[in-house]
Order: sequence, then C-alpha cells, then structure tokens
Amino acid sequence: MTYRIRAHHGMCFSFFSGKGYSGEFTENMWKMKEKLGQNPEVLLVCRTDDVCARCPNNREGICTSSEKVEAYDRRTLALCGLSENAVIRWDEFEGLVHEKIITSGRREHVCGDCEWNELCK
Ligand code: SF4
Repeated sequence: MTYRIRAHHGMCFSFFSGKGYSGEFTENMWKMKEKLGQNPEVLLVCRTDDVCARCPNNREGICTSSEKVEAYDRRTLALCGLSENAVIRWDEFEGLVHEKIITSGRREHVCGDCEWNELCK
C-alpha cells in the first residue's frame, strides 16, 4: 500500500497530539499515524492527500487554503531535496524532515503562518 501524503504533512505528523479541524479529521490522523508507523511507501504530493480526505476544509478535492499549503509543500520538498511525486519510505522522509527542517530551525520558514504554528514550537 502506498499512501498519498502532501509534503508539509511531514511536519504535521511530527507535532500532532490530537488537535485538529474536526473529530473525524483527528481520528483519521491517529489512524494514518499508526499506518505510517509501519514505514510504508508514500507518494509525496502538493495537492490533497490521505489526510485531507477527512478534512472539513477539503472542498471537492481542493483545500480552502490551497495556495498557502501548496507553498508549504514546495518548501518542504525543496529543503529535503525531493521532487513532487517522489515515492519514498515514510521513515526516510520523516528523517529528512527532521534533519533538514525541524532540527535545523527552518520549520517556521516553511509554515510559520499556519494557524497551528504555536503547537509546533
Ligand atoms: S487544511 Fe487543507 S491541507 Fe490541511 S488537511 Fe485540510 S484540506 Fe488538507
């Protein structure tokens, strides 16, 4: 099984602690976190994914903040040295996100204007 994951969600999974846009969204996040914990292949995208699938902001496949979040996705990919539609094991992607973005202090450059920013400090 290959999961579709938009690139900036690499950060969201690192900081997720049960808060989200709705109960259904949060439940899906926990399920996805468990599945990703088994280190599956993921297809990295800059559009709606398997997390967005249960989000109330997903309107017929388009995020209501699509311009902003696509910019997060593209910055994430660039800093990790990856391309859109890359297929990679989750653990490798998560490792790159940690090394290239989170521990190197670049996270706020990627998504500092996100409404959840305070949770990720
Ligand atoms: S806010 Fe947008 S990018 Fe974030 S999970 Fe919802 S639909 Fe996806």
